[in-house]
Amino acid sequence: MTLEKERKAIVRFGLKMVESGLTTGTGGNLSMLDRASGQVAISPSGIEYGALQPEEVVLTDLDGNIIDGACKPSSELGFHLSLYNQRSDVRAVVHTHSPYATTIACLGWEIPAVHYLVGFAGKKVPIAPYATFGTPELAQKVADTIGAYNAILLANHGMLAVGSTMDAAFAAAEEIEFVARIYYQTKSIGTPVILPEEEMATVLEKFRTYGQKKMG
Ligand code: 13P
Ligand code: ZN
Repeated sequence: MTLEKERKAIVRFGLKMVESGLTTGTGGNLSMLDRASGQVAISPSGIEYGALQPEEVVLTDLDGNIIDGACKPSSELGFHLSLYNQRSDVRAVVHTHSPYATTIACLGWEIPAVHYLVGFAGKKVPIAPYATFGTPELAQKVADTIGAYNAILLANHGMLAVGSTMDAAFAAAEEIEFVARIYYQTKSIGTPVILPEEEMATVLEKFRTYGQKKMG
């Protein structure tokens, strides 16, 4: 099976997305790009993640032509491709309807640096203006908003995260959902204290070597 490793990862992380409460039902979608072949493995549209089989994961090229897979690709193929075409460092995209990030997105707000973990996205989490799901307009708005960020909100819709690996994209989606929850909770009982931009620059620098990553 072509791109077997990537297709199996889509199945595994799709399940994880539901189990960790980042999405419900058939909401959200995931993809991975194999830059060597220029092929994208993307979840099929309207699938139950619990029933998804690796061979049902759709393969396309970077122009959206179907290469393999009997199913229809995710309706959001357009924004997945626009992210890969725009950012040469991106090899995985996770789109969720996680409750707290979606709450903030339905207020039309960005998420400021209320907690240092916003650094998983950048100095803040910006928001792409609303456009109907699955449209070229939404893909364009995503492309216009992503910049160098690793996660953005989608107005009245949800969130998306990108990474150089699926682990990284998924971790960004999880951590930004946590920060969205903290923002919601702090706004509910008081006035959140926002970290200054210089402090977020320090945090982003420290993230480069955090954990077991190589120093330097
Ligand atoms: P798909 O099932 O087509 O991937 O759509 C789900 C979704 O989240 C649309 O934005
Ligand atoms: Zn969606």
